Amino acid sequence: MFNKLLTLRQQGFRLGTMTTHDVEIAIVGAGFSGLGAAIKLSQNGVDDYLVIDRGSDFGGTWRDNTYPGAACDVPSHLYSYSFAQNPDWSRSYSHQPEIHGYINGVADNYGIGARTWFTSEVESAHWNEDEHRWELSVSRSVDGGPAEQVTVRARHLVGAVGPLCEPNLPDIEGIDGFGGTIVHSARWDHEMDFTGKRVAVIGTGASAIQIVPQLGKVVGRLDVYQRTAPWIIPRNERPYLPVENWAFKNVPGLQNLIRGGIYGFNETVAAGMTFAPKALKPVELISRANIFKGIRDPKLREAVTPSYAVGCKRILKSNDWYPTLDQPNVDLVTDGIEKITEAGIVSRDGTLREVDVIVVATGFHVTDSPVFATIHGADGRSLADVWDQTGMRGYKGSFVHGFPNMMLLIGPSTGLGHTSMVYMIESQLNYLVDYIRTARRSGITRTEVTEEAQDRFNSGIQHTLRNSVWVNGGCSSWYQDEHGNITTVWPGFTFTFRNATRRFDIAAYDVQKGADRTASTASGAAPQPAVAGS
Ligand SMILES: Cc1cc2nc3c(=O)[nH]c(=O)nc-3n(C[C@H](O)[C@H](O)[C@H](O)COP(=O)(O)OP(=O)(O)OC[C@H]3O[C@@H](n4cnc5c(N)ncnc54)[C@H](O)[C@@H]3O)c2cc1C
Repeated sequence: MFNKLLTLRQQGFRLGTMTTHDVEIAIVGAGFSGLGAAIKLSQNGVDDYLVIDRGSDFGGTWRDNTYPGAACDVPSHLYSYSFAQNPDWSRSYSHQPEIHGYINGVADNYGIGARTWFTSEVESAHWNEDEHRWELSVSRSVDGGPAEQVTVRARHLVGAVGPLCEPNLPDIEGIDGFGGTIVHSARWDHEMDFTGKRVAVIGTGASAIQIVPQLGKVVGRLDVYQRTAPWIIPRNERPYLPVENWAFKNVPGLQNLIRGGIYGFNETVAAGMTFAPKALKPVELISRANIFKGIRDPKLREAVTPSYAVGCKRILKSNDWYPTLDQPNVDLVTDGIEKITEAGIVSRDGTLREVDVIVVATGFHVTDSPVFATIHGADGRSLADVWDQTGMRGYKGSFVHGFPNMMLLIGPSTGLGHTSMVYMIESQLNYLVDYIRTARRSGITRTEVTEEAQDRFNSGIQHTLRNSVWVNGGCSSWYQDEHGNITTVWPGFTFTFRNATRRFDIAAYDVQKGADRTASTASGAAPQPAVAGS
């Protein structure tokens, strides 16, 4: 009988017209974070979880960003899971198809697909105070069929929805009336043939500097609209020799050694960014030399030289960005955009540049993600409501006061400008596993970080930031929210974060035990109907 109920529960059961699925842990997102969470929970004997993703396979960022030239900018030996190292990387910095393949390969090895719902979008999540559970309203499509509404009830919610997931379209007058095609870097149109076309690229961030050199090879004319120039250092990218791949596979400890070397070097940059921005002068000199080498025209050199301290915005890596800007078919436009017309883009000096395609490489909704409006905590307010007032705030990038039993992966104050986000994700996975273990061991059904602990944590972050390049470097970037607060960046060394998340520090939380007033399927009793409107 119990087995039958368990099977029903795992497959979802239908009540009236609403299908309900009960699970201990709902993990929303199947990128590096969500997949890593599933693997670590499984490895620690926690199998009662469900991964939900609106896409059609694993990969998140690396499934969605398929623009020409898409690649990581942290070497692959570090930008990968420590527990699933890959001796077969073909290059020092892998490109999107290889990273996407790697993530899906890891998911296969650990059998996570069997516990994952793809093409399933979580439309809302509400905390049910009576049951100490999250109720997720999911629009689920199976095998290309019509979407069905499913309620997923979960004791714990893991939000692994990614900070760079919701494309940001620029709010430019007239953009809707453009007569040509608009393509966002994160939703590339592979049907579009750019050969010989007149193309504008808006943005000069991490994606744009990878796209522009590729487009520059094929388009007729390319206008690149720059608001703020990035600091760009050379990219030490090269294919690996077969003998190197052999050694990665066969020499014990070699990959760990390489990971350690890259990690250690990158942490010296973290020290400069956080505590002594002037120590980053050598990075500035390397960037200036990169400009000098790549561009002949003195005016263009001046236009691409940033006016803020290196490190204030993400330091980018490219060998072909500057030479591309120097090509005769490429123009750098720095006057700012006045409006977009049916024919093209009008810059602030009144010039209309007619184009067939506009590529927007303007990033993502980081501090104002639409997802925040769909998650409703203990007092019914959404994350967006709360963070509109306070700015993005949380505790150890993981928990948010007012949102019990919800852990965010890559939440507030976890972003990096210098090294692999996978390191941060893995740190949080330790915290997640210990949190779940603690809750299970002690029969805890409700865990909420105290306001005091959260305030103390954020005061510490702001204190550490006070001498940093993000505060004093003279730039504005996506690291800052609309209040001007820096709420996305982890200041300092990443090993400090690893230490802070090694153990679940229950003293920072208000906990309740066994307040589950409904009969739960886990105890073998009949399932309760899903709450209407959830
Ligand atoms: C072009 C690009 C290059 C990058 N390069 C690097 C790099 O070199 N080094 C580095 O450290 N970082 C890099 N990053 C940052 C990168 O985002 C992180 O390293 C990492 O991939 C984030 O993984 P994630 O799983 O947290 O989020 P994501 O990979 O964004 O995954 C989030 C998942 O959540 C799903 N999702 C979101 N909302 C819902 C919903 N409502 N319902 C269901 N599913 C939902 C999405 O479909 C997605 O699959 C890069 C980012 C971009 C965009």
